[in-house]
Amino acid sequence: MIIASISHYFLGLNFFEYFIVILGAFASDFDVLFVKYATDHNHRMLITHSIIPGVFIMIIGIILNWNALILCGFCLFLHVFVDTFDWGTNLLYFPKKLVGFKFLITKDEFENLDKYLAQYKQNESFFDFKYYKCKACLAIEGILFIIMILFSVINALEYIIIIPLYFAGLFFHLSLHFKLKKIEAM
Ligand SMILES: [Zn+2]
Repeated sequence: MIIASISHYFLGLNFFEYFIVILGAFASDFDVLFVKYATDHNHRMLITHSIIPGVFIMIIGIILNWNALILCGFCLFLHVFVDTFDWGTNLLYFPKKLVGFKFLITKDEFENLDKYLAQYKQNESFFDFKYYKCKACLAIEGILFIIMILFSVINALEYIIIIPLYFAGLFFHLSLHFKLKKIEAM
């Protein structure tokens, strides 16, 4: 939404274009629907979490000379790049390897993941709890939220109607978090 609102300021996107730029930023995560086909049942091993879709869409955007599509591809790429920071992602796809900074997982946890996952009733809890316990992650979320609201109001007030999409995503993630907390506490 930050990128879309800045782009709108400079390029004057129509609503559909504004929407596809934002869609590019989270579309990759719908690959959870295909998680059963992924290596280790990790959706970040799928092609959708590599640089391939982002680069492909950017090239199509360049061929069609359509800025919104180039930005959509950039957001697809940015999502995958950001995913390298916490747990890593299958960035280059063909080596079939999670790469990235992996700030939220130690080397020991990464190499002996099964042992750590076994400490929880649900495997997701390991990842979910680590994320929500990370104060830097929550601070970044908060800062980006404030910037998003400010930029949307200043640069793209006419498209403010799209903000509930953010809250829908937030609600989805928080409800999952509290559900896992409940399950682990039982
Ligand atoms: Zn992702």
